[in-house]
Amino acid sequence: MEETYFDAIVVGSGPGGSTVAKELAQAGKKVLIAEWGKHHPVKGNVLQAGVSACTPGKSLLFTPDFAAVFRGVVTGGSTMHYYGTAFDPPLEIFAKTGIDLQKEVDEVREELPTQPLDDTLVGPMAKRIMACAKELGYEWQKLPKFIYQEKCKPECWRCTYGCPYEAKWNGRHFVNQALEHQATLIDGAKVERVMVEQGKAVGIRFRKSGRVTHANAPLVIVSAGGIGSPAILKNSGIEGTGKDFFFDPLIAVMGSVPDIKGGKEIPMATGVHMEDEGYLMTDMTVPGTLFRAFNAQVFKLTKLMSHSRTLTIMVKAKDDLGGHISKRGGIKKKVDHKDRARLEKGYERASAILRKAGAQDIYKSWYLAAHPGGTVKIGETVDQNLQTQIENLYVCDCSVIPEAWGLPPTFTLIALGKRLAKHLLSNRAA
Ligand SMILES: Cc1cc2nc3c(=O)[nH]c(=O)nc-3n(C[C@H](O)[C@H](O)[C@H](O)COP(=O)(O)OP(=O)(O)OC[C@H]3O[C@@H](n4cnc5c(N)ncnc54)[C@H](O)[C@@H]3O)c2cc1C
Repeated sequence: MEETYFDAIVVGSGPGGSTVAKELAQAGKKVLIAEWGKHHPVKGNVLQAGVSACTPGKSLLFTPDFAAVFRGVVTGGSTMHYYGTAFDPPLEIFAKTGIDLQKEVDEVREELPTQPLDDTLVGPMAKRIMACAKELGYEWQKLPKFIYQEKCKPECWRCTYGCPYEAKWNGRHFVNQALEHQATLIDGAKVERVMVEQGKAVGIRFRKSGRVTHANAPLVIVSAGGIGSPAILKNSGIEGTGKDFFFDPLIAVMGSVPDIKGGKEIPMATGVHMEDEGYLMTDMTVPGTLFRAFNAQVFKLTKLMSHSRTLTIMVKAKDDLGGHISKRGGIKKKVDHKDRARLEKGYERASAILRKAGAQDIYKSWYLAAHPGGTVKIGETVDQNLQTQIENLYVCDCSVIPEAWGLPPTFTLIALGKRLAKHLLSNRAA
């Protein structure tokens, strides 16, 4: 990186960071994106995904009760591995904090695909689960997707590993658009802290290939995700972050059926939000390697070869706020008895659906999670404009969500990113 002076620095390139970076760059601002992960071309294979989403202590973290928490440390962040479900933002949560997101939500719908999958792209496993759930009276439906469906390949199952066909929208699409507008990306750069002078953000300090480097800008947006952002803020002198958070714990409920041969489909194509009971249920056919990992984790060794016959329903709960992120970025939060009760209720319901589908031996994975957030809440650490107590230091990612959550957050984060960019551009800060 030759230049060290920018109009704005964005730390992290998940949905929050990539949106702000793209919008600022399109408005002519000189933007630096500092990203811890690598910017390798996306191959969509297990080896690449293993590095960016399953490196212990980095992208794969464990709670004290061994729930596995995944995040993508790569350009595009966790959206490189997400399932592309474009869940409607719960506007009422933000209205309580004085934020009206409606306009930005409409803009996201204009800009990105948010349609449910065409029937030809819904796999046989998702179809079977949906049909059986409907027979049992659930309002189980196709879910909206951030997917350019015309680019999907038949029987493709690569969403989890990273889509090599550009079909699944992810943060990297916005990073690339920012780069087309003269933004600079520095990958492999772990930001340690924000530099502050006289109460104002003036740049960042980061480590790349073991070397400590600085970059300067009068505006810094930290978008390092629910685990990364509180650590950077703490190191920058902001106390009180990283506590009472959510991670939306989930289980995979599995059962083999004799009359299906599948295992290659887009996960989370269909589902139902059981809002009153505090969880979401969806189909979740994952690639074979991940399926075997889920099974090995609960010692279901006899099931390791049954991927193509096993129907899987994900039950994802809205957990109560609690716990803290340790100084070293560890997740100090357990799946408590209330979360377990929600997941157990979902397990009973998912089991009944799988039985209806013809499955007999039904079992569940151990706890997993992929939505850490609420660690830098609006109303506590950031204001309505997502600014911290340090002038010109903003946060935009899952960490700013102010309440317990339980939903796929990407749509909401893109909308928040658009709103923040407008504020920065209208407010002279950028
Ligand atoms: C398997 C899976 C499936 C999912 N499915 C869906 C779905 O269907 N729909 C949905 O809405 N959500 C889904 N999610 C969740 C969604 O991907 C995340 O909630 C979302 O990406 C969070 O956005 P973020 O900006 O907060 O953080 P992230 O996307 O995690 O981005 C943070 C970025 O910051 C970088 N970073 C971290 N620390 C530093 C540092 N110190 N210095 C520099 N960079 C740093 C990271 O490398 C990363 O690129 C899924 C997640 C997973 C793992």
